[in-house]
Amino acid sequence: MKTLADIAAVRDNLLARFETFEDKREILKAQELKDLLASIKDVAPEDRRAYGQAVNTLSQELKAKVAAELDKEVELPPIDVTAPMDVNAAIPSLLHSENGSIHPLMQEIAKLSDIFQRMGFVVEESREIDDQYHMFESLNFPKGHPARDDYDTFMTEEKDAAGDPFIAPAHTSTMQNRILKKYKADLENGEAIAAVVPDRTFRNEDLDARHEHTFYQVEGIYVAKGVHAGMLIATLQKFLEEYYGKKLDVRVNPFYFPFTEPSFEFALSCPFCGGTNSDCKVCSGEGWVELLGCGMIHPNVLKAADIDPNEYTGFAFGCGIDRLVMMKHNIEDVRHFESAKLDFLRQF
Ligand SMILES: [Zn+2]
Repeated sequence: MKTLADIAAVRDNLLARFETFEDKREILKAQELKDLLASIKDVAPEDRRAYGQAVNTLSQELKAKVAAELDKEVELPPIDVTAPMDVNAAIPSLLHSENGSIHPLMQEIAKLSDIFQRMGFVVEESREIDDQYHMFESLNFPKGHPARDDYDTFMTEEKDAAGDPFIAPAHTSTMQNRILKKYKADLENGEAIAAVVPDRTFRNEDLDARHEHTFYQVEGIYVAKGVHAGMLIATLQKFLEEYYGKKLDVRVNPFYFPFTEPSFEFALSCPFCGGTNSDCKVCSGEGWVELLGCGMIHPNVLKAADIDPNEYTGFAFGCGIDRLVMMKHNIEDVRHFESAKLDFLRQF
């Protein structure tokens, strides 16, 4: 017959072995403990109550010890918040570079920016939301000017300080006034203002193979003393010949834009067939491709930037980048660019 001393011995034994159990819950299934529980019924009735309580106390003690150990295991390790701040730490790669590619428009924007930089132009960024002063007023489209309606702009419900809605720029010409002001001091030092703005533009177009609501445009401006239209045509011709890597003929026809005077529509000889293929998809066999609008900067545009139009003249042009790239790579539908179709993008 077991006694309280047996319980104390089992307790000492189990506690001594506690650390050796990998899964601490196993101790609750130990044979010695089972024997103690089973022995309660054999103890003399007068001692049974105290004996049973002692066994129960030991059982509860072991359960509590196991529970405390399990709590310890689920405690999460602390996170070292200084690790991500370590500038020397290697940046984990989410996607290996061989699985992705630079978007064809971004590749071509880098190439055309490089050509313009080699020609002495600085490259400036545009904005994706702007005010009506920069979209229209500063470009000689005063309020109520009918040519404002030629641009199907997206507008916000929010109004600017003048009470007009903000707009998603329909051309990167919105940067002209800012660039003229930014580089005005160069003129006084006898240098030219020469900048291009290749960036994203938006128009509320009906979509088809030639029209997309989101597209890219490169605006160019050049201002100095004695700038004339011949310099504009030569600059554009040189740029296009560099871009397409071949000699091209160009042609200008009179046109109308509020921000240039005179204004021209600029066409180049078809880079694909030169007019020799009546089935050419690019020029329809006409041999000419109407590519962009350009002209001599209107005196009012210079005045809006505090530049004296009697002293300085300049030219400006705005060219659709999507169109340039479509012609270069023989892409038949402008909507591919914004489609995120991998089978299209993986070709570049
Ligand atoms: Zn052609």
